[in-house]
Amino acid sequence: MTNVLLIVIAIIVLALIVGGAVLLGPRRRGAGRGQATDAGPSTTAPPGRAAGAGTAEGGTTAEGGQITVPPPTPAESAPAVERPLPSAGRMVRLRSRLARSQTAFGSALLGLLSSGKLDQDTWDEIEEILITADMGAGPAAQLVNQLRTEVKVAGTRDPAQVKAMLRADLLEQVGTDLDRTLHAQPHGGRPAVMLVVGVNGTGKTTTCGRLARVLIGDGGTVLLGAADTFRAAAADQLQTWAERVGATVVRSDREGADPASVAFDAVSKGTEAGVDTVIVDTAGRLHTKAGLMDELGKIKRVIARQGSVDEALLVLDATTGQNGLRQARVFAEVVDITGIVLTKLDGTAKGGIVIAVQRELGVPVKLVGLGEGPDDLAPFEPETFVDALLG
Ligand code: GDP
Repeated sequence: MTNVLLIVIAIIVLALIVGGAVLLGPRRRGAGRGQATDAGPSTTAPPGRAAGAGTAEGGTTAEGGQITVPPPTPAESAPAVERPLPSAGRMVRLRSRLARSQTAFGSALLGLLSSGKLDQDTWDEIEEILITADMGAGPAAQLVNQLRTEVKVAGTRDPAQVKAMLRADLLEQVGTDLDRTLHAQPHGGRPAVMLVVGVNGTGKTTTCGRLARVLIGDGGTVLLGAADTFRAAAADQLQTWAERVGATVVRSDREGADPASVAFDAVSKGTEAGVDTVIVDTAGRLHTKAGLMDELGKIKRVIARQGSVDEALLVLDATTGQNGLRQARVFAEVVDITGIVLTKLDGTAKGGIVIAVQRELGVPVKLVGLGEGPDDLAPFEPETFVDALLG
């Protein structure tokens, strides 16, 4: 009898062990999957504070439209949330992307400067190279005059010395004392608000997504407002960027909805969620100045009801030269631009545009796009830029 009892107990224990193994098996495999995605500690991490911003919910806008905050994807199918690396030193890492500018600009200039004869023709040629690099006629003439005097005073053609003089003069033109800080810190219990403006195709939406990565990489939390309501694709694009880093997007469910409503809702949801920064992507159709003024003016006014615009960043495509400068002028008349984002600097030999656009608008280049990758947006560093140009 006792034996029978012992056998029954043994069977029950065995059944429990086998059952437990079956139940635990898949979980272990699941944990293994998690570890695999965590392989790169610098690129994946738990959502943290950024994901916390995702608690905002949908609602009705100030203008009565329907604004949606897409629900979080169920945990099982959600892709791993990335944590981008901090942005410091990024431009140094990406400086080789300026190789085209370097060959066209730096090598040609240095070749001429250290050549045997430095007569009027050579100086004219130097000025021409600077103008061809989109630096602008005024800054080019100024730089040539300054350099010419310095070379004469020093009485040298030594390549290293001439290069040092050119470097110093270029740095002066680019400006080492401009405030290039991004005003992304919350204040007075409200998030900082960044308005991103520019013509379609310049890389505006990409900039919003990559800027969110920069701020999150630097430890902040971000909410993105898709106020470019004329292109559903722009809102989708923004959402994809946001999901990768666990940020929230506020968007309208209706194409052509009032952009100001979306901007208003983005700021209020951002305030509710307690994020550090709200980035508002705006429409960039090339339409009349009056239309642009109405649209951006209204966005600014509705944001002002809840705080202020801390940064108005103008996105410019570095490859568009004079055309880009013309666009910049129109936007600057409509919005108080506080900083320039110069995209596609990797795709041009005309790095001089940095100097021309700053001169044109009187505001600093704060960020540069040096490729199509998610982390190819870098805080602009004058020294790194000039050193890259000169090779
Ligand atoms: P939007 O219409 O202004 O919002 O422009 P998008 O953000 O859609 O970007 C237009 C194209 O420019 C996309 O193919 C981007 O990948 C590309 N782009 C944006 N920034 C850069 C950059 O810094 N370098 C390069 N090479 N391409 C860029």
